[in-house]
Amino acid sequence: MAPEISTVAVLGAGTMGRGIAHVSALAGYTTFLYDPFPEALKKAESTIHRNLAKGVELGKVKADDADRARTSLRTAENLADAVREADLVIEAVPEDMGLKIRIFQEVVANCPEHALLASNTSALSITEMAAATGRPDRFAGMHFFNPVHVMKLIELVRGLETSKETLDAMTAVGVRMGKEIVTVNESPGFVTSRINALIGNEAFRMLQEGVASAEDIDKALKLGLNHPMGPFEMVDLVGLDVRLSILEFLQRTLGEAYRPNTLLIQHVKAGRLGRKVGRGVYDYNEQGERVRSSR
Ligand code: NAD
Repeated sequence: MAPEISTVAVLGAGTMGRGIAHVSALAGYTTFLYDPFPEALKKAESTIHRNLAKGVELGKVKADDADRARTSLRTAENLADAVREADLVIEAVPEDMGLKIRIFQEVVANCPEHALLASNTSALSITEMAAATGRPDRFAGMHFFNPVHVMKLIELVRGLETSKETLDAMTAVGVRMGKEIVTVNESPGFVTSRINALIGNEAFRMLQEGVASAEDIDKALKLGLNHPMGPFEMVDLVGLDVRLSILEFLQRTLGEAYRPNTLLIQHVKAGRLGRKVGRGVYDYNEQGERVRSSR
């Protein structure tokens, strides 16, 4: 039997971790947000408070629910403190298998025996992480989307040995967070990252070939194909370094169709990592508004 979930630990307080902590606290779960870097925790907490306040202002979140979410949220600089009472642990640390496995091994040494474990990986093998924890039946992927408090979907990823009880319990958590769920059998990049990486890579290839400007490629996909965002707006949001590591992984696992475009690699080498550093394919001002493109 899957445990009743009341306490959730979120590991990593970056772009995704802070969003997952936001929806978890708002869903009424006691939520521990862990990051080894105090400044990351401070930034995460202020972003969550700001987004909750904005939700109230826009009439999307009730003021009482926002207050309750703020009190349900705890931060922790120590992993053991964050997971000690967790019924569900959701990992959102950088996309590095070695790091994720090390973190999960520390998690299982400190969390309750019944706790369910999830990774928010964009593409890596759930089965490989699950095996390293020694409790593969209680492990699955919970792939959230950025910005988490806005995006509706969770791709729930079934590893080779994930149990039905685990999937059912995580589905219930996702629904309580206000999300729609699709269940995907583990495969590199699942559904969304695999397709998105290919579109984004092709867009860089077209930019490199001079087919059109970044602005016009984005405009063409938005107005001609009804995509809500252009591929460059999207990669600036995701992070160019994150996208590059996904493509490198897909190339290794699925083949040459996913070889990262050299212009994307150059952008990463130049430190153009996207909105999070104020410059990616586009440049952004202090208010986060777009000012121009790199080419
Ligand atoms: P990020 O770089 O914004 O955040 C990572 C956080 O992990 C940082 O706060 C960092 O301080 C922390 N961290 C670094 N080393 C750590 C350690 N040893 N232990 C614990 N925390 C550590 O990254 P992100 O964009 O939030 O991505 C996190 C995960 O989510 C990745 O696996 C990524 O592939 C996945 N993901 C990202 C997106 C996206 O749009 N950014 C979407 C879906 C999934």
